[in-house]
Amino acid sequence: MLITVMPELPEVETVRRTLAPALGARIIGVWDSGKGLHMGRKPPRGKLARLVGATITKLRRHGKYLLIDTDTPSTLLVHLGMTGRFLITAKSSPRAKHTHVVLDLGERELRFVDARRFGQVDVVDRAREREHEGLAVLGPDALVDGFDGAYLFARSRGKQATLKAFVLDQGVVAGVGNIYASEALWRAKLRPTRRASRLTAAGADTLAAAIHEVFDRALTKGGTSLRDFVAANGVEGLNAEYLWVYDRSGEPCPRCKTKIRRTVLQGRATYYCPTCQTP
Ligand SMILES: [Zn+2]
Repeated sequence: MLITVMPELPEVETVRRTLAPALGARIIGVWDSGKGLHMGRKPPRGKLARLVGATITKLRRHGKYLLIDTDTPSTLLVHLGMTGRFLITAKSSPRAKHTHVVLDLGERELRFVDARRFGQVDVVDRAREREHEGLAVLGPDALVDGFDGAYLFARSRGKQATLKAFVLDQGVVAGVGNIYASEALWRAKLRPTRRASRLTAAGADTLAAAIHEVFDRALTKGGTSLRDFVAANGVEGLNAEYLWVYDRSGEPCPRCKTKIRRTVLQGRATYYCPTCQTP
């Protein structure tokens, strides 16, 4: 079985924060492996070359996309996919196997390393970045943009999807993935299989607060490293130890001690407490 553990908002935000030493650095060269990444597309060599001479001015994130602004109209877009790592490292340290893109900053390098090559590296025109196919579909970012219960409630009206699918929909709220969907629904005491259309206004408030809470909590632990994820400085996140239900089937619910159950929704592992998460 394919185990899909993808970096989600807290992991990408951890990378963004740990990239801070790159701010103000000038890109003096670029390199790419020429190997196909996301959808088999090769790193855009011509567009990457346009970054040479540019200075990194801002580090942003929208959902699971990292956006690295420069003092030119170009922004580097990075998505970690499943196994991607985006690292800031001394130029003298050896390049890891599966390094696909390198930005030379002089003393240091930014390196995109991705064993399974589902990740994405692109260069977008910042003024038109919302036209990028990945960004075009995104709803508000769960942390940066205004996002609350009233918004979730409005978006859930008439939606026949399960609550799990609803919170995973990046067009509803950007940044929630498989791990934190289970965590947030447990925190909100909502069964993942419930229809989104059955969400009450109060339930939507609780769910929005739960999403904020699981993200804030994961961020304080530097994200969740179950397999590949590391921060830009190579440090693993510690949040896996603090997950309430994800990957804990058969273990006692932290609230009521009932054994956590695992089910599969749309091919993805889903964890819940059959007692305190109301169907
Ligand atoms: Zn419980």
